[in-house]
Amino acid sequence: MHRNLVDAPPLAMDEDSIEAGRLGALERFDVMDTPREEAFDRITRLIRNIFDLPIAIVSMIDGHRQWYKAYEGLENREVGRDETFCKYTLQELTPLVVPDARQDQRFAQNPLVTGNPHIRFYAGVPLRTGDGHVIGTVCAIGYEPRQFNARETAILCDLSQLAMDTLELRQLAAVDGLTGTLSRRAFKEQAAHAMGLARRHKHELACITLDLDHFKTINDRYGHAAGDKVLAAMAKACRQHLRGSDLFGRLGGEEFALLLPHTDRKGMAEVAEKLRGAIGQADIRHGASKIPVTASFGMAPLDARTQDIDQLLANADIALYEAKAAGRNRCIAFRAQDDLAKGPCRRVLKAGRILFNNRMSSIDCTVKTLADDAAGLDVISSIGVPETFNLVIRSDAFETRCRIVAQTERHIEVEFC
Ligand code: GH3
Ligand code: MG
Ligand code: MG
Repeated sequence: MHRNLVDAPPLAMDEDSIEAGRLGALERFDVMDTPREEAFDRITRLIRNIFDLPIAIVSMIDGHRQWYKAYEGLENREVGRDETFCKYTLQELTPLVVPDARQDQRFAQNPLVTGNPHIRFYAGVPLRTGDGHVIGTVCAIGYEPRQFNARETAILCDLSQLAMDTLELRQLAAVDGLTGTLSRRAFKEQAAHAMGLARRHKHELACITLDLDHFKTINDRYGHAAGDKVLAAMAKACRQHLRGSDLFGRLGGEEFALLLPHTDRKGMAEVAEKLRGAIGQADIRHGASKIPVTASFGMAPLDARTQDIDQLLANADIALYEAKAAGRNRCIAFRAQDDLAKGPCRRVLKAGRILFNNRMSSIDCTVKTLADDAAGLDVISSIGVPETFNLVIRSDAFETRCRIVAQTERHIEVEFC
């Protein structure tokens, strides 16, 4: 059954509230940067074969980018939100069909039309949640102009609904198929429970987040299948050093988290170092050559100020970004004085905009962590972002001047000036 206008957010809502609701729904699905899954790959394969078109995508759209859960016929897994055709599909309650992009004034000058991959035909259907939020799109794309009849549109709508149903089912899965670690949702649920126990019984508990270094390069150099092998092998290597009561979950693509009950600061650092060593030494082969793999670690102990698992993960993430910025392949602990200086930081998902050059230039970003006087921002590329700029979060009617305190290629940590 197609969801229809009845399920859509009330039309009276303004653009910013719709966007905030949309990002809230996207966050609940916890799908950004999760691994490829056959169930979604099958949908893009079907689209290509049924319509005989070269490109098919199941995509999610956050604050600054369109990211592909599944894709066929494209090289990159994401594109800046401004460039996508799908940003128009987000605003539509019905499928968007563009028979010839060169003849359509919305798209004629789009770089994907004027340059590579020279898109001419586009059909996109919004990926709409049960409560009416559009979190992404399912689309079919071609290099030649073509028509899309009512029957074809209905098929694409069904495939979009199938993707949505699969997303809803996937949310219920507790274990990640590739690595055998807990799914993000299961990890967070069990971690919240373990935190509650630690509080009640006054025992120590620590959280570690880890992210493989330059994993994109591993995929590019050895192929996606080898990348998958690395993830599985790395999870296996880590598991050998964990206790039965430790929680080990996959938060996103190549990002994992651990929750260690009955573990103090010292124990936490020992575990992280052991895992760093195990990953570095894992013998992961591609043909005759060993694939070199390292990871960066952020560590955060539970303390009286940590309100919930999201805050604990955010603390560990702050330290993880420090480890990345300091050169990767290292473990860094979150410093409680950072927390005192900055106020508690939370994991969020908000659309942001970086303004500079007298407000003449702007770059979209996704706000991933937010404190009273600091934030963590994801961008397509941090090149060209100046040392100081204004950060705007429209859904919160928020604007403030920021200074960069740390950055990697795709992430920026700022403090508010
Ligand atoms: P950094 O050291 O800053 O973390 O760099 P990075 O390249 O590891 O980080 P980035 O976030 O830019 O890239 C992560 C890559 O992980 C991109 C994505 O294609 C890949 N990836 C995510 N999930 C999977 C998966 O399930 N399998 C494979 N093979 N690759 C994946
Ligand atoms: Mg990485
Ligand atoms: Mg990562």
